[in-house]
Amino acid sequence: MRVASGFLASAVGVTAAWLPEVITRDVAIIGGGASGAYAAVKLKEDFNKTIVLVEKANRLGGHINTYEDSKTGNWYDFGVQTWNDYGPATAFFERMGVPVSTPGRAVLVSRYADFTTGATVNFMPPANADRVAALSRFLNATAPYEQYFLPGYWNWPARDSIPEDLLLPFSDFVDKYDIRDAVHQVFQVTGMGVGDMSEALTLYVLGAFGPPMMRAFLGQGASFTPDTRRNIALYEAIQARLGADVLLSTVVTASVRTSLGHVLYTKTADGKARIIVARKLLMAIEPIAANMAPFSLDLTEQSVLSRFKFSTVQAGLVAHPSLPINGTVINTPAASAPNNYLALPKPDFVVRFDYMGGSDLFRVMVVGAGAVTAERARDMVRQDLARLMGAGTLPAVTANPAAAAELEFRAWVNHGAMHMHASADELREGFIQKLYALQGRRGTWWTGGAFSVQFQSILWAYDDVLLPKMLA
Ligand SMILES: Cc1cc2nc3c(=O)[nH]c(=O)nc-3n(C[C@H](O)[C@H](O)[C@H](O)COP(=O)(O)OP(=O)(O)OC[C@H]3O[C@@H](n4cnc5c(N)ncnc54)[C@H](O)[C@@H]3O)c2cc1C
Repeated sequence: MRVASGFLASAVGVTAAWLPEVITRDVAIIGGGASGAYAAVKLKEDFNKTIVLVEKANRLGGHINTYEDSKTGNWYDFGVQTWNDYGPATAFFERMGVPVSTPGRAVLVSRYADFTTGATVNFMPPANADRVAALSRFLNATAPYEQYFLPGYWNWPARDSIPEDLLLPFSDFVDKYDIRDAVHQVFQVTGMGVGDMSEALTLYVLGAFGPPMMRAFLGQGASFTPDTRRNIALYEAIQARLGADVLLSTVVTASVRTSLGHVLYTKTADGKARIIVARKLLMAIEPIAANMAPFSLDLTEQSVLSRFKFSTVQAGLVAHPSLPINGTVINTPAASAPNNYLALPKPDFVVRFDYMGGSDLFRVMVVGAGAVTAERARDMVRQDLARLMGAGTLPAVTANPAAAAELEFRAWVNHGAMHMHASADELREGFIQKLYALQGRRGTWWTGGAFSVQFQSILWAYDDVLLPKMLA
């Protein structure tokens, strides 16, 4: 490190003290969320590579949000909830020294209301036996396709062999396979993240709620969290393991990328500059234009990555005396009454208010069809709560008409772009093939949700396929 710095210094005739530190590594990884942090551990410990992990936030873990309630001392996870026991998940937790177990599910009393009016909706969820039967049919219909997109698109079929089922709008797929009774659960668990779920392509709904999730809900697969119920514990363990190889609060500001190696100019939040010289680059951030700006994409990279559209997800913890302890208030369009399960909220929308237990905290999520500011998302939550109180669905706890302004936001995180997707026509024109042709181009490899699906343990399995290819 110092040698390289000294060499650069003498080359330009100034003293090393004036130059940024130069870090030389086999692999630079950008993004310390699920896919990047896992890859960093594997590259360093299993493949004996020198690595540096560049993370914008002041901690690893991406979508993990573990909040400590100062009133009770309890921990609440309002980002990632659980890990599916998929691929390397169990072994990885064990290796990181983080014991896991299956958390109990709180039973909440559901209220259904159309958040656009605040009015109660006489919605009847399917009977449990009907839901389970529909979920089984869903699994039977989709399991044959799993090989094409899990844990990544490594076996994606040729352009003219893509199963038409995967390119159907989800509502058509639902009717074709008679799985309406599964839709409510699919949407409420994770499907809402894709935005307009009934119009989304089935392929992308399966990316949000795929066969591994179906198996978990059918009792054929496990899911777990750390015993401590502090999901951040996993990433704290990874951080401790990687030590000084992690650069927190750091972003790349400019780069020179070639098939022979990369020079990355980085800056910390407090202005400290460093230069990374790396043989290979692993991108583990969402490949949206704003994130890609410092990486000087060439025309091929731009033409592929610019095709992506995305939805956005925000999540937070709120408190308000009108919200029902032990309850969940679910955004349910009036048209869904009593059992029109495909009448779902259209983005941008507030998903629901969920009581978190043991406190006065409620988890709330907002889904957008594109970029939504955190301020606008919080306004949507305030306005929806005001409508729920105005319509009498929730008690108006104060005579003050501005009661909604009293809604307390204890925590809020804008998770930004997620569920990257392309159109059916683009998929038929070979979008996935073009996307995967980027692997290894200009010495750059790609991981993360855009190249796989939005689940932590599936991304780890995806990394397990990617890394040997990257090092071959
Ligand atoms: C509310 C919510 C709940 C979820 N619940 C679950 C769940 O229960 N189970 C599950 O398996 N999955 C869940 N997910 C999805 C899961 O978290 C994601 O699929 C997964 O984290 C994606 O991993 P990734 O590596 O692609 O990106 P991320 O985990 O988002 O990691 C990207 C990392 O890169 C950093 N970064 C961004 N830009 C830059 C930059 N320019 N330079 C440096 N670093 C940068 C970010 O800070 C972040 O740490 C949930 C997601 C959300 C939003």
